Amino acid sequence: MYRCKSGKHWWLNKEDAEKCCNGYKLMLCIGDIQGCHITVYEDETETMYGYKWVPSFSEGNADKRKVKSVTPFLE
Ligand SMILES: [Zn+2]
Repeated sequence: MYRCKSGKHWWLNKEDAEKCCNGYKLMLCIGDIQGCHITVYEDETETMYGYKWVPSFSEGNADKRKVKSVTPFLE
């Protein structure tokens, strides 16, 4: 496990850890998952979706939202 720059989040791979809290945020992509490195197929709705890192220009207290957006379907 790798810890991100802020030390608040843990990631399974190093690239994610390097981007997290370090100028990038995860963006949800539904349908078009090109470029997404985290992809999920949801059987119920037969939908492919994924997340990709995009440069984040909003700093501050975006941390909590970021983490929540990673696991909306697992709760
Ligand atoms: Zn982080």
